[in-house]
Amino acid sequence: MIDLHMHTIFSDGELIPAELIRRVSVAGYQAMAITDHGDLSNLDFIIPRLVEAARTYGDAWGVTVLPGIELTHIPPAQIAGAATRARELGAAIVVCHGETLVEPVAPGTNAAALAADIDILSHPGLLSEAEAKLAAERGVCLEITTRKGHSLANGHVAQMARKFGAKLVVNNDAHGPGDLVSPAMARNVALGAGLSEQEYEQCLKNSAALVEKALK
Ligand SMILES: [Zn+2]
Ligand SMILES: [Zn+2]
Repeated sequence: MIDLHMHTIFSDGELIPAELIRRVSVAGYQAMAITDHGDLSNLDFIIPRLVEAARTYGDAWGVTVLPGIELTHIPPAQIAGAATRARELGAAIVVCHGETLVEPVAPGTNAAALAADIDILSHPGLLSEAEAKLAAERGVCLEITTRKGHSLANGHVAQMARKFGAKLVVNNDAHGPGDLVSPAMARNVALGAGLSEQEYEQCLKNSAALVEKALK
């Protein structure tokens, strides 16, 4: 099991990196990305620390840990620049916090994120056809999430991805220990969003491919 979207105390998560990585290991995951909420004021605070945590605790706890960031509530015009800055600082996985139904994320965020150098558009809400098409063209993964609230649009996201051939990944968006869902639960949420078994298997492959690319 691989999960590429998690939070620590470097944003609004409950755990320090060492404990999150330890708990992910005990939960039986093989690889993870820590993607704390970042904006232009704190990328340089968060990312170098996650790079350090990944290096220090990944091997020790037996988990492949990728340092990342979730670009969050950044004005759409600034997203591309923030993604570039995140890469420069060492983010191996760049997520952008999409237009979830449960927060006032600025309209235009999905489109700007999909045009930027990101890997995953998280919880994209009522993603438009043009956005789904752009995700497919750019090879950006769209997210099916097990997180409450954000998951309200999972069915729509699954449908749009299928229609336009965009890639999907399933993530837990963990903020605390209770959010580290089991492989069975992740699968059930994906099937609950309308994915077939085969489509869910493809999600797992998409996550594995992102890990492989990040490690190169
Ligand atoms: Zn988010
Ligand atoms: Zn998140």
